[in-house]
Amino acid sequence: MPIVTLLGDPLETPSRCWSVSGRLAVMSKRKFADSVCVFCRERPSSRLGEHAWPMWLLEMFAEHEGPYHSEINGKAVLKRDGHRRGYASIPTVQTPCCEPCNRELNRRFEQHPKPIIRKVIDTLGMVVLTPEEAGLFGLWWLKTMLLLSHEETVDSAVGVSPERWDLRQVPDDLYSWMVTGESPPGGLSVWFARRSDTAVPAISDPPVMFLPIVIADGRETRFMMKRACLKFCEVTLVYHPGWPIEHPLEATSETVRIWPTSEEGLDLSALRGTNPWPTMWVPGPKLRFADGAYRSASLPSPQNLLHGALVPGVVFSRGPGTDL
Ligand SMILES: [Zn+2]
Repeated sequence: MPIVTLLGDPLETPSRCWSVSGRLAVMSKRKFADSVCVFCRERPSSRLGEHAWPMWLLEMFAEHEGPYHSEINGKAVLKRDGHRRGYASIPTVQTPCCEPCNRELNRRFEQHPKPIIRKVIDTLGMVVLTPEEAGLFGLWWLKTMLLLSHEETVDSAVGVSPERWDLRQVPDDLYSWMVTGESPPGGLSVWFARRSDTAVPAISDPPVMFLPIVIADGRETRFMMKRACLKFCEVTLVYHPGWPIEHPLEATSETVRIWPTSEEGLDLSALRGTNPWPTMWVPGPKLRFADGAYRSASLPSPQNLLHGALVPGVVFSRGPGTDL
């Protein structure tokens, strides 16, 4: 039985998705010979950089259990002859990283979370995590999802080129904290769901979540999301600085927040299975706030932007793809 690997982003169009595959092939040969480490931004990257999916995790997917398959936006990656492309092993995904930062990432994010991630995968997610385990689990996924989102991260798989984040639209530094020992910046949320192709959605129409562009207090910020799935673990990362959001499927127990972590631990076994990508994340409006008016306490759920909800403090707004 093939195991499904999903690496995708619902905001990308298929044409954009595939157009850079040739460039990726060249980059994977050169690796990171001319790249600077994305964590310290000082030292040159090692040749292989940092594996977003660590090697110990990839080794859990034995060759004899393959072939493995990839999907982007829920659609299988195909060969030129139209058949689904199979891989003997899970492809590597690498980010430019120097040796000292690589050691620090390993110390902080791999040694202690490793047995927890293994336990979740081995039990197919039917497990209860203690508060300490839940903290390590959430932090590990936050790190992993941010690496998968970085614009300089490259995929070794032929024909797989998920869209990365445009970091020019992200004023916060989302990466240096991983090697300085600091806490992650605010405005980052991660949710976990257990994928099941036979699950019946609790809500018949997929909920829509908007990702606005916020212009406030002299800076413009694009909200972004990234989804990835490894085996049955379906994970969503959203960057939403200053605007608290809840995932619409938390109420139906089809997903659970894993970052920021809860102090009560995590009962993953209580999650209902979900169909692939049951929530639609779409570009939202551009919202310009009056100076000092961007206040999290008064903001509606991004879901409500669909219904034209008034956002307190906004002096001008435009639909997606238009300029103010
Ligand atoms: Zn470095």
